[in-house]
Amino acid sequence: MNWEFKPGAGGSDLPSDVEPGEPELLEAFDRWIHSSHPNTGRKGCPGRQVLMALALAKEKFEDEYTLNHIGRCAACLDDLKQIKRELTGAGSSR
Ligand SMILES: [Zn+2]
Repeated sequence: MNWEFKPGAGGSDLPSDVEPGEPELLEAFDRWIHSSHPNTGRKGCPGRQVLMALALAKEKFEDEYTLNHIGRCAACLDDLKQIKRELTGAGSSR
């Protein structure tokens, strides 16, 4: 990955034993965010275009609001994973 979350910024309640950055930890983070911040109402979501820009960012993505938001929004995290899958073409039948 070429972008990173900023847990801790803005008073994140990410448990201290979860530090995103390594695949296994990301998986734990993924489980945690779905139980803690499912955000089924998509409240405050920056939108798919922004997530797309994040997925395409070659250098560090500088939109702090978006990074913070995704760090606590399972809906956006799912979208981001979906977008990355589409970008890499994995699982695409088209
Ligand atoms: Zn969101």
